[in-house]
Amino acid sequence: MDSQNMIFDLDQSNEQKIKTEYDRLILDNQNGYSLVSIKLKNFITFSHMLADDKGEDLIQVAYNRLCTCLSDDEYIVRIHSYYFNLLIKCEANLDDLHRRAHEFHFAVKNFFEENYGRPLYLEMGYCPLNHPDVDFYTARYYAEISRMASEYTFPETNYDMYYISYQDQKEDFLKLENLVPEALANGDFKLYLQPKVNLATGQVDSAEALVRWIDPKRGMIPLTSFLPNIEENGFIREMDLYLFDKACSYMERWLKEYGRKFSISFNLSKAYFNGTFFMDEFTSVFKKYNISPDSVRIELLESIVLNDIEHLLPLVTNIYEFGFSCALDDFGSGFSSFDILTSVKLSELKIDRSLFKDITNDKERSLICHIVDIAHDMDMEVVAEGIETEDYANYLKEIGCDFIQGFYYYKPMPVDEFEKLFITNTQQGR
Ligand code: C2E
Ligand code: MG
Ligand code: MG
Repeated sequence: MDSQNMIFDLDQSNEQKIKTEYDRLILDNQNGYSLVSIKLKNFITFSHMLADDKGEDLIQVAYNRLCTCLSDDEYIVRIHSYYFNLLIKCEANLDDLHRRAHEFHFAVKNFFEENYGRPLYLEMGYCPLNHPDVDFYTARYYAEISRMASEYTFPETNYDMYYISYQDQKEDFLKLENLVPEALANGDFKLYLQPKVNLATGQVDSAEALVRWIDPKRGMIPLTSFLPNIEENGFIREMDLYLFDKACSYMERWLKEYGRKFSISFNLSKAYFNGTFFMDEFTSVFKKYNISPDSVRIELLESIVLNDIEHLLPLVTNIYEFGFSCALDDFGSGFSSFDILTSVKLSELKIDRSLFKDITNDKERSLICHIVDIAHDMDMEVVAEGIETEDYANYLKEIGCDFIQGFYYYKPMPVDEFEKLFITNTQQGR
């Protein structure tokens, strides 16, 4: 495999690279490839057993070992921490899958055994590319589900590989979905907050609430493996309310104990969208706490909003009447219509990260700059989402964008970490 493919950093443009390849293969109707999800299975215990904190170095070594198994037209990216995606030549038959899985397994396990005195194991899941209607994110979701199923199916083994056919997927979704009520009761759904940095002051006084499912046995379960399903079956309402309750209790504590007023945005799922009962549920939770309603902002997804504009107006009116406010989420993600901006009251426009692809592109900069101006003209605050580089941060400051929510400043973090960083420790900003 050439050095060009051996890119290793957390830059999400890597994800774009593998996605582009995936799209090309699907378009060319090329069967015989698979998308693979790999986790370094015993990574945490492995790295803890070494004296120094060499976590990042070990991940780099594992990555290099995986690269040795790839040819020039195969790809690998690190998705986050010790998770990787690979696009490899591999037919949808068990012989081929096992052959490649063995190759990866031995390249990593043996090397670590010889050089570090103990083996590092892999957990793998495959999604063969033989369905033209399956897009990249869905294929990745399938590969992740397969990987997790392998952990579930062979928890005691050291080498896991699992392959589920496209047709089998539904069953596994259901399994995961069935675990949701118990997970909720056990407190396995955690409130994470991603800070929004105020570009004028450099301070953080608001954040977005994001859920994370942390299973005690299986670790963090990817959002994509359960969110769409619990949205569909409506269970997301319970989970969102639970998260809302938690966030309100923190906001009250920060105000009472530290005199700090923070505002938090919440995603409104489409499960709420066909009734105003959403407000009854949210306000009855909200009223338990002594905080001001202007601390709560509701994020409306552009995709759901546009599909159902007739439901939107009374809903938004109710939200504002109570004293909450609204943001339009993911603006520019593919469903954009300016109609929504003129017909609905909104306090904030969140520009989707898909619009921040190439800062050197004049047209892109011009588009962003004009979106910011239009939003300001309409009395909306502007949040740029998914900002990962300094160049973008500087540019957005320059054109007067109000907030940045992106990995360049902060990733989503557990609420307790947020509290330590911004409430109990007064040093902040960048
Ligand atoms: P969203 O509301 O647009 O949330 C922002 C997403 O962008 C988050 O993904 C966040 O982690 C990600 N992000 C922020 N900055 C960066 C960056 O610099 N680079 C990259 N690559 N990503 C960045 P996350 O947490 O995976 O959530 C995905 C979506 O799932 C959210 O999109 C939201 O629509 C939905 N969601 C998340 N948590 C909840 C929840 O508790 N309830 C509901 N109803 N939906 C949720
Ligand atoms: Mg959002
Ligand atoms: Mg968004």
